[in-house]
Amino acid sequence: MLIALIVIAAVIVAAAATFALVSIPRRRGPRPVERARPSASVPTRPAPGQPVEQASAATGAEAPARPALDVPDPTAGRLVRLRGRLARSQSTVGRGLLAVLSRDHLDDDAWDEIEETLLTADMGVAATTELVAALRQRVAVLGVRDPEQLRALLRDELLAQVGTSTDRSLRTAPHDGAPAVVLVVGVNGTGKTTTCGKLARVLVADGRSVLLGAADTFRAAAADQLQTWGERVGAYTVRGPEGGDPASVAFDAVKEGKEMGSDVVLIDTAGRLHTKTGLMDELGKVKRVVEKHAPLDEILLVLDATTGQNGLVQARVFAEVVDITGIVLTKLDGTAKGGIVVAVQRELGVPVKLVGLGEGADDLAPFEPEAFVDALIGE
Ligand code: GDP
Repeated sequence: MLIALIVIAAVIVAAAATFALVSIPRRRGPRPVERARPSASVPTRPAPGQPVEQASAATGAEAPARPALDVPDPTAGRLVRLRGRLARSQSTVGRGLLAVLSRDHLDDDAWDEIEETLLTADMGVAATTELVAALRQRVAVLGVRDPEQLRALLRDELLAQVGTSTDRSLRTAPHDGAPAVVLVVGVNGTGKTTTCGKLARVLVADGRSVLLGAADTFRAAAADQLQTWGERVGAYTVRGPEGGDPASVAFDAVKEGKEMGSDVVLIDTAGRLHTKTGLMDELGKVKRVVEKHAPLDEILLVLDATTGQNGLVQARVFAEVVDITGIVLTKLDGTAKGGIVVAVQRELGVPVKLVGLGEGADDLAPFEPEAFVDALIGE
């Protein structure tokens, strides 16, 4: 009996030991995966001057092999290089104008046609009326009939409307020991996040170090999208939890930019035009918190050139909320309505500083009036 009890006890001990051996590794195995959320708004960041790749390696994690950083195209003369895109979309306007101007007799109907063409290209009533009156007077006074001279007069008048003496430079030089701060605003879908990514490349190409702030916390993919753009050119991205407070991301981005000694902090924002009050509250707060660190050097409004009058309505709303310093017109490659350049400048009294001419990484160009007008009326 005693022996039987000893045998039973031995079996129980052996079974318990086996169970423990089998179950321990399982407990030590990987935990169930939790949905990864960016923990804080400020992830591990590189030291000043340290490229993004080295910073990730320094975390101790096995760093995946990253492709070498992109070298963005130089920015000078980009619009001239991309003129083909504009010419494809805009040249119907220029060809139409030149065809009418070359008629033997320029009667009222001909001038009405010219006016109609400019209005269809979204130039707006005020600019169109001015341009037609000036051109009509010069053609009559000079008695010009030669197609080349007519073309030159048209070019002059279009340039006068677009504005050749306006300062279109971006204020992106660091000052007073702090980075320049650029806020990018606009309605979602206009190409705002893409423009931030492309603009980071423009700045890097011009020799600036850039830090990106992903303050569009409302569109699920926006922060990932921005970070991917940044990684390609070595720009670090500060981001927050999805649905988090945009102002706190903007605040952290400027703080980080200062600590890292970045030249420029470029902040993407969410443009939910749900109500004007909502937008005003949100952007107003972003502006206030950023200005606790440093003044805002540029507030760029991104407008989709294909949206015509709707774009002008958006421009008006944003102009009431923040002091816009420059306009970025995207998707000019996809519309013959290049006259919006003139209309929106008149509406806001602010220059177009950059234009988007495609989905490629370097398809954002500093705006050059001459290259634009030449593309409009053909070489
Ligand atoms: P967001 O919601 O305003 O941030 O918009 P996104 O940056 O996500 O862009 C919306 C779409 O517009 C994307 O498919 C972009 O590739 C496209 N896009 C942006 N800029 C341009 C441009 O200049 N030309 C063309 N053709 N597409 C553009």
